[in-house]
Amino acid sequence: MPELPEVETTVRGLAPVLEGERVARVVTRREGLRYPFPPDLGQRLVGARVTGLGRRAKYGLIDTDRGDTLVFHLGMSGRWRVDPDELGAHDHLVIETGGGRTLALNDPRRFGFVHLHPTAELHAYPPFATMGPEPLGDGLTAGHLATAFQGRAAPVKALLLDQRVVAGLGNIYVCEALHMARIAPDRAGGRIAPIRLERLVEAIRQVLEAAIAAGGSSIRDYARPDGELGYFSKQWRVYGREGDPCGCGAPVRRRAEGGRSTFWCPACQRG
Ligand SMILES: [Zn+2]
Repeated sequence: MPELPEVETTVRGLAPVLEGERVARVVTRREGLRYPFPPDLGQRLVGARVTGLGRRAKYGLIDTDRGDTLVFHLGMSGRWRVDPDELGAHDHLVIETGGGRTLALNDPRRFGFVHLHPTAELHAYPPFATMGPEPLGDGLTAGHLATAFQGRAAPVKALLLDQRVVAGLGNIYVCEALHMARIAPDRAGGRIAPIRLERLVEAIRQVLEAAIAAGGSSIRDYARPDGELGYFSKQWRVYGREGDPCGCGAPVRRRAEGGRSTFWCPACQRG
């Protein structure tokens, strides 16, 4: 499932293909994915020039000179294919550029989606309106977490997964960051000392940046025959490693709650 680093890698891979290019053709090959494609998608995109690409949380952003931003979400299984040899059954949206490049949004499970929103009002795009700061931006500080966690008895893990506290953090990266910061996942948010919050902010940045760096090779590979962007495997510290020895020697533990699991080391993560 694509998380923030995969979306960042995807945006970086798409940028050299799209930036400054005019959209020559847009083909929707079904009515939509999780939501219908905007009915005026082709009308608003064809002839527009792409002025920039970006990311907010797990959403990719493609800006055009008509004042529109194409917002895409990769859902559970979405990915962009660059210059595919041929289109397959799961290539649901195809964008061709004036420079002769082809991008296909491939999504077998169809939980992804595409919206168009005025660039100037992107802050009011519903998922963004209440979102907290970007984890890799200046807004995420120990002071921000201290304010967000103040008086909260909820486990720090749940607070970090709350998009109003920090944008775009998923289960894997929260488990990894808490392990790196040596904070127990079920520790009450309001009871974490400021010095540990400093360490937590640093850990969040480090695990995300390491994952983005691991995806760097995928960017260089984007023109390979299957042309797939954004997925890569990574060696996790605790995630998916139940029973394996942590760096300290103690076995990694797992606890299931709802549809997701928490992985942690009870020996290291006591804070
Ligand atoms: Zn340990």
